[in-house]
Amino acid sequence: GILDTKVALVTGAGSGIGLAIAELYAKEGAKVIVSDINEEHGNEAVAKIKSQGGEASFVKADTSNVEQVEALVKSTVEIYGKLDIACNNAGIGGEQELTGDYSLDSWRKVLSVNLDGVFYGCKYQLEQMDKNGGGVIVNIASIHGTVAAPLSSAYTSAKHAVVGLTKNIGAEYGQKNIRCNAVGPAYIETPLLESASGDMKEALIAKHPMGRLGKPEEVAELVLFLSSEKSSFMTGGYYLVDGGYTAV
Ligand code: NAD
Repeated sequence: GILDTKVALVTGAGSGIGLAIAELYAKEGAKVIVSDINEEHGNEAVAKIKSQGGEASFVKADTSNVEQVEALVKSTVEIYGKLDIACNNAGIGGEQELTGDYSLDSWRKVLSVNLDGVFYGCKYQLEQMDKNGGGVIVNIASIHGTVAAPLSSAYTSAKHAVVGLTKNIGAEYGQKNIRCNAVGPAYIETPLLESASGDMKEALIAKHPMGRLGKPEEVAELVLFLSSEKSSFMTGGYYLVDGGYTAV
């Protein structure tokens, strides 16, 4: 595969988009650290990857906890000897309220997972990759890294900031053989959307010119490309996989 000999880390890999990314990395030959706050789902993901002939290990971490994120990178190196690829995917949706009614608690919670967590990840991944002489980071943002999500100010703010953080890393690490890009999926069929009612789902689908939601596997293909040598001249960028959502 195109990731043979590589060691890859995926956060939030127990479900949805992260799971699809971890599976595809493993299928392409990488040894994969599956990380999640949910131990049961993480272990299930590892079992699934192994049943498909891949190599993976579970390491539990809450990405909003800086000590756990530092320990996660350390465990990766202890288990597989190095870190070549990291995908900071873990994220949450949060409360849906007008900005004026948005609770301080939900704002803090969403920002701590969707922004602080990505920064903590990048911080310790970059330190390790610099020691290794190079690496690749892919941060999972959203279309809401560039357009509004009405009633989800915290989510939109965090995702815009992830795009900014990614640009900064691209600017700073260009000569250190470390690339960093962000991905902007539109609405994807994952457990994150399970809470949406039938009507809400139809309204969401209508916003996509392709007339359907995306699949986790369709996001994973872009992440694989950005994680591999095929994207060797790409850094600091933000790439959509959105069925045309932001085109209209
Ligand atoms: P999901 O809920 O299916 O999976 C998210 C995983 O992250 C879960 O396994 C969960 O346990 C884990 N997680 C949550 N908080 C965590 C924490 N603090 N530390 C570690 N793990 C944690 O969601 P998904 O749809 O696969 O979303 C993955 C990423 O993609 C998120 O960043 C999300 O914002 C982004 N995204 C999703 C969509 C979508 O429509 N589903 C669209 C654009 C972007």
